Amino acid sequence: MTNFASDNVTAMAPEILAALAAANQGPAMPYGEDPVTERVRARFNDLFETETVVFPVATGTAANVLGLSLLAPPYGAVYCHRDAHIVVDECGAPEFYTGGAKLVTLDGADGKLTAVELSDAIDGAGVVHHVQPAAISLTQATEVGTLYQLEEISALAEVARSHKLGVHMDGARFANAIAALDCSPAEMTWKAGVDVLAFGATKNGAMAAEAVVIFKPELADEFGFRRKRGGHLFSKGRFLSAQLEGYLADDLWLNHARHANALADQMAKGLSGLPGVTLHYPVAANMLFLSLPEPVIDGLKAAGFMFYDWTTPATPAGTREIRLVTAFNTLSEDVVAFVALCEALTRKAAE
Ligand SMILES: *Cc1c(COP(=O)(O)O)cnc(C)c1O
Repeated sequence: MTNFASDNVTAMAPEILAALAAANQGPAMPYGEDPVTERVRARFNDLFETETVVFPVATGTAANVLGLSLLAPPYGAVYCHRDAHIVVDECGAPEFYTGGAKLVTLDGADGKLTAVELSDAIDGAGVVHHVQPAAISLTQATEVGTLYQLEEISALAEVARSHKLGVHMDGARFANAIAALDCSPAEMTWKAGVDVLAFGATKNGAMAAEAVVIFKPELADEFGFRRKRGGHLFSKGRFLSAQLEGYLADDLWLNHARHANALADQMAKGLSGLPGVTLHYPVAANMLFLSLPEPVIDGLKAAGFMFYDWTTPATPAGTREIRLVTAFNTLSEDVVAFVALCEALTRKAAE
C-alpha cells in the first residue's frame, strides 16, 4: 500500500521520536518554562539570523490563526488567495480567533497572489462602513505546490506595507519552499517583509508541532494570552519543543524537504508526456495535481495506490483530477512503481 494522499499520512521521523524520548526524562517546569523550549528559542534565532519570538503549538491551524490574530482586529480584513488553507480548510478558525475579521479572497494564477491584484483590492480604509484592511496572508509553498519567488514576496509585502498592513505567511510546507528556492529562512521571511510566520514541522516529520515565529517583538506581547485563551498553551510544553529541536537538528528538516521535493520532481518527469495525462501546475515542491483518464485512476487505486481525487475548474472533460504528495520518507521505488503502472495504464486507455 503506497500512500500519496498527503504528507501528513507519514509516521514520525525516528530522529524526532528519539528527541521526544530524550526529553522524556525526569521533571521539567511546565508551560514552556523548560530547558528544551529555551534551547529551541535560541535555535530559531540562529536559524532566522535575528531576534524572534517563538511559540510552539500543535496544529498548523492554531499557528495560522493565533498568528493572524496579532495582525487583524475583529473589524479587519485579511487578504488571501481563494485557495488558501485559512479560507478552505480551517473551519472558520481565522474568523473565530480574530474575533470576526473578514477573509477577503483574491484570484491569482498558480495559487499565488499578485501585487497588482492585491493593490487593486485593498480598499475602504477609514470608511466606517467597511472592514479595515489589516493584513495579507501568503502560503509558502502554496496549496497547489507552487512557490512565491523572493521578489514576489517582497513586492506583496511592499504593497502591504504601503497600506500599513501586516504580513502573515502560512509555512505548513516552509521547509519544502526553502529547499526548492535554496535561499535562507531569513531571506524568505523578515528580509522580504514577513511579520509573522506559521512554521510547519508536522508534515515534514514531526508528530504534532508547529511554531509561530514573530519577527516584530512588539507584536508578541499579547500572544501568550491569546494562546492560553485559545487552549493552545501546553502544560507539558517540552514535548512540543522537543519535536522542533529534533526537527531542526543536523539539517533534518531541510534534508527531509529536499528528499520529498526530489521525488515529486521524479514523479513529474515520469508522468508528463504520458497520453491523457495533464499536469495542472508547475511542480516546484512536493505536490502534483494532474488529470488522468478515468480507467487509469481506477487501475491505480485497484493496485493499492492511495491518493485524493481533486477537482478544479481546469479538469478536462472525460478525465478526473488527482493530487499526489510526496513526503520525507517516500521511497523512490514506490515512485518508480507508480509511474510504471501509470505508463502501462495510460497506454492501454489510449488504445
Ligand atoms: C496542512 C496545512 C496546514 C495545517 O493544518 P493542520 O491540520 O491544522 O495542522 C496549514 N496550511 C496549509 C497550507 C496546510 O497544507
